[in-house]
Amino acid sequence: RQNERESLLIILEYAKEFFKKQLYDTDEGKSIALPYFKERGFSDATLQSFDLGYSPEAWDAFLKAALKQGFSQEIIEKAGLVTQKNDDGKVYDRFRNRVIFPIHNVSGKIIAFGARILRNDAKNQAKYLNSPETEVYHKSATLYGISQAKNEIRAKDVCYLVEGYTDVISLHQAGIKNVVASSGTSLTIEQIKLIGRFTQHVTVLYDGDSAGIKAALRGMDLILEEGLQVNLVVFPEGNDPDSFVRKIGSEAFVDYIKKEAKDVISFQANLFKEEAGDDPFKKAEMIKEMVQSISKIPDAIQRSLFIQKTATMMRMDEDVLLAELNKIQLKKM
Ligand code: ATP
Ligand code: MN
Ligand code: MN
Ligand code: MN
Repeated sequence: RQNERESLLIILEYAKEFFKKQLYDTDEGKSIALPYFKERGFSDATLQSFDLGYSPEAWDAFLKAALKQGFSQEIIEKAGLVTQKNDDGKVYDRFRNRVIFPIHNVSGKIIAFGARILRNDAKNQAKYLNSPETEVYHKSATLYGISQAKNEIRAKDVCYLVEGYTDVISLHQAGIKNVVASSGTSLTIEQIKLIGRFTQHVTVLYDGDSAGIKAALRGMDLILEEGLQVNLVVFPEGNDPDSFVRKIGSEAFVDYIKKEAKDVISFQANLFKEEAGDDPFKKAEMIKEMVQSISKIPDAIQRSLFIQKTATMMRMDEDVLLAELNKIQLKKM
């Protein structure tokens, strides 16, 4: 087991170097992949600090190179670097004609790759492909960017949580380095515990679309349940942290976060004001959802303060809210 882990880490490191070489030292990389990154505004230093690379178009470029290097087909397969296309047993490079985002574990070792198509209009192709689960890659316990961010998360005592690879990278380049991505999966307890090793404060910066907001609300309840303090920032419709920081610059971005960050109750209260108007049935539904969120908080004093806040914001009697909270907590027992 230990041996296999070591071998996997070695071939993943080799693959990272291979993809970097393809980016910098081949005509293909220089003519299509480097310009792609440049167009996204990534500097040379950024490309280096995230180990970004390119996987060529050929169906077996990596496979051939790795076999020639002396890696066994078995370990290449176990690392998730090739995939089977038909039942004929033949394997092909998993990542082809994509820009490569290596995924590091908390101590900086490569454990997997994310890979993006170069053109948004490519038909029948997922925008991003990921390594499969392996002996060293457990997607649900991984946060993209954690090794580059961990010191700054501790220093700033807050972790920004974003959705995508490029959000992490753009914010880093803008000097905002306490940021990690859940990479498109819904947030897990393991990921929150990982953040909890470095700070008790999370600010969720999900995309400014309805999918992003829904995912953010679900994530916040889970973060509360783990006993961490969480705020949420919503970006103007159609923006994600990457596009927004490039549009307004890093200073304005930091100001925006400071101004717009809302706790879970203020955020829901605002959202609900817009959605419910003065319909009592709808308003009741929404207040119940807010009390649900509050019930996740392990700390009794915090719970009580959030109940007070909800009472004020929703103009409700505090005792009614407390009764509802008790009802929820009895059910949990
Ligand atoms: P870009 O700016 O390059 O278009 P993004 O990060 O803004 O990428 P989103 O569509 O917002 O992309 O998705 C957020 C994250 O979800 C991605 O960074 C990626 O980790 C993951 N993701 C998106 N699409 C897919 C997909 N088709 N398959 C697997 N994961 C995906
Ligand atoms: Mn999105
Ligand atoms: Mn984006
Ligand atoms: Mn996005």
